[in-house]
Amino acid sequence: MLEGKVALVTGASRGIGRAIALALAGEKATVIINYNGSKDRAEETLAEVRALGADGMTIQCDVSNTAAVDTMVKEAVKVYGRLDILVNNAGITRDNLIMKMSEEDFDAVIGANLKSCFNTIKAVSRQMLRQRAGRIINIASVSGILGNAGQANYAASKAGVIGLTRTMARELASRGITVNAIAPGFVDTDMTQALSESVKEAATAQIPLKRFGKPEDIAYMAAFLASERASYITGQIISVDGGMAIG
Ligand code: NAP
Repeated sequence: MLEGKVALVTGASRGIGRAIALALAGEKATVIINYNGSKDRAEETLAEVRALGADGMTIQCDVSNTAAVDTMVKEAVKVYGRLDILVNNAGITRDNLIMKMSEEDFDAVIGANLKSCFNTIKAVSRQMLRQRAGRIINIASVSGILGNAGQANYAASKAGVIGLTRTMARELASRGITVNAIAPGFVDTDMTQALSESVKEAATAQIPLKRFGKPEDIAYMAAFLASERASYITGQIISVDGGMAIG
């Protein structure tokens, strides 16, 4: 159980982030639901968190914006007085082959997926260092491990998240803060619903378990990594991908 713990989940209005918010609320954590544009969906997540008997709030913030993240984290600490769990889930895709990929699309993906993690970790670690405890969980991707044609920006951002995870784990371990990443494979959310049927079929063929994952498959792992039972795990990249990245 996570009673008394306060969690910040970025990009929790939809998809995997929403499932993670609900899994943490199911363990009775207080959940701060960050969103960027989907206010109504974030309010729906909050209503579901409350229906599970947990407390929480929504907070708008573009996590690629360093100053805005600082303000968000200060606000969260002001309201709840502590911050125990950070889940860096917010992310976007802007897929294209390198020759056609614009600088703007490269920067946007690096900003939302990688710089966002730098922003949030820097902001929350001040509080976690004071508490001498904390759990940081970053959502990477199988693309950051294997690479994926058409995703130079996305794969680079997620490989960056993996390097950041391992480095933060080393920097923060002596203060009782664990830092791990989950590397999902293809998961059924708005992000993958945008793919064509032929791309989905080709993707399924590469998955040993022959199906896309559900957001809950990722959320169960996030809830485990946030729990007391995971206290001796840090610096790990845990694939939840139906076997896609079997080495
Ligand atoms: P999704 O359904 O498209 O949802 C993305 C979420 O991120 C939304 O809540 C969105 O908020 C939020 N977001 C995006 N940019 C943001 C920003 N700048 N600031 C704050 N929030 C932002 O995506 P998903 O499939 O659940 O993906 C969640 C995470 O899992 C991402 O990091 C993604 O890269 C990773 N992942 C997904 C898959 C997959 O197959 N789905 C596979 C591997 C990894 P608003 O709607 O409010 O804008």
